[in-house]
Amino acid sequence: MTSATENDFQASVRGMFDRAAAALGVPDDLVETIRECKSVIQLRFPVRLRGRYQTFCGWRAVHSEHRLPVKGGIRYAPFVDQQEVEALAALMTFKCALVDVPFGGAKGGLSIRPDDYTEEELELITRRFTQELADRGYISPSRDVPAPDIGTGAREMAWMADEYRQLYPSDIDALACVTGKPVTQGGIPGREEATGRGVQYVLREFFRHPDDVGRSGLEGGLEGKRVILQGLGNVGSHAARYLVEEEGVRLTGVIEHDGALLSDTGLAPAALAEHMARAGGLEGFPGARFVADGASVLEAECDILIPAAIESQITEANAPRIRAPLIVEAANGPVTLAAERQLLARGTAILPDLLVNAGGVTVSYFEWVSNVSHMRFGRLSRQLDIQRGKRIIDMIETTSGRTVPDELKAPLLRGVDELDLVQSGLEDTMREAYGAMRETMLGSDAIEDMRTAAFAVALEKVVRSYRQMGLA
Ligand code: NAD
Repeated sequence: MTSATENDFQASVRGMFDRAAAALGVPDDLVETIRECKSVIQLRFPVRLRGRYQTFCGWRAVHSEHRLPVKGGIRYAPFVDQQEVEALAALMTFKCALVDVPFGGAKGGLSIRPDDYTEEELELITRRFTQELADRGYISPSRDVPAPDIGTGAREMAWMADEYRQLYPSDIDALACVTGKPVTQGGIPGREEATGRGVQYVLREFFRHPDDVGRSGLEGGLEGKRVILQGLGNVGSHAARYLVEEEGVRLTGVIEHDGALLSDTGLAPAALAEHMARAGGLEGFPGARFVADGASVLEAECDILIPAAIESQITEANAPRIRAPLIVEAANGPVTLAAERQLLARGTAILPDLLVNAGGVTVSYFEWVSNVSHMRFGRLSRQLDIQRGKRIIDMIETTSGRTVPDELKAPLLRGVDELDLVQSGLEDTMREAYGAMRETMLGSDAIEDMRTAAFAVALEKVVRSYRQMGLA
């Protein structure tokens, strides 16, 4: 049986926060101050569609303004509500602090089933939502910067940025009002795939530490590990691609809204994406076993389970049957607090959402910096870099009297481009954050799991900031 609050995502996030605050000994009054959202707005607005007015309901929650702007995605889904948006906003505060992104936390949502509308209608709705948010200061390059989340992507961000620019034509930084834009509209290369890349980098880092791998009951490296992944959207599809094509994992199961696929030999992410685009779901994919009860595949045997869809997928109800020794939370809040207690007691390792999916906000930060500096990264140094490469090759050829082979020359003569810099910054960020989380877990008797450690690293920074600002 599932307890009354077990699927309450907000209660789970509060419980996780409280556990870390207790481990750090944060005073009660400060815990109260930091835990709750500082402001939340509910918007009801009409849009005239198909000859009649339809009213839409949306929210934007700001959790903490200890750093500005605040940052967090905007979700378009029929199940969104205020509690969910508030819980996600709180996660954003701690996620940003963990990965040293100097933003506060926020989140937005619109209660809508995007598939029910045409592209033109979605554009109208998004533009009107942007006006409503802007009117009340809930979107602005200096105060509150949304990004994509479930049901939104680069297209919606481009509409929002354009609407904001039309509302404030004299704001020179207007494009920085949202991140995750198309590269041709002020976006940055590598943002679309950043969250999936981050999942890859975190897993690489985990497998660089044999002690951590051993604690989970696994052994060896990432290559060849059997992975089951839930949700082939933005985050899941990119993570699947990089893990299979670059790390050599075996994707033995995928779960989507219409069911799941199982394959002992492994599924090819590119073929899956093609099939999903054509068929609208997984059913009918050749060469794999289709299972209509998709959620049951969360319980199938594998080495690594990656929930990358929505929250509260692993609960008290199915936790006893989860067999994966390692769960990697690519989605926000896929494991409830009660389920986590059971899993930890059984020795399951859980890499927490706070760290695992922080790649998106990290690269969003790079995009925002590039927008407000009005310059693409690497523009000033690329030619210098190429010249330096040439000089190194000349030096080697002159001193050795031999010619450097073309395949060794090519990378030195290419120069560093913006995507290289973004990926390097992202990998560095994920590795640093993993290291901080790990050190905190191993260095404290009061902390026994990676989620509490990640919250503790973040909370320590937020508490310091509140104290230094004189708010506590
Ligand atoms: P998305 O809308 O692109 O993809 C979600 C996918 O999950 C869809 O393919 C959907 O069909 C599938 N899905 C939904 N419910 C499901 C269920 N019950 N079972 C199986 N599949 C289901 O969303 P996304 O942007 O990939 O986000 C996924 C998760 O990652 C969310 O929790 C989101 O908050 C989190 N996240 C996203 C980003 C980002 O950059 N997009 C960044 C950080 C965290």
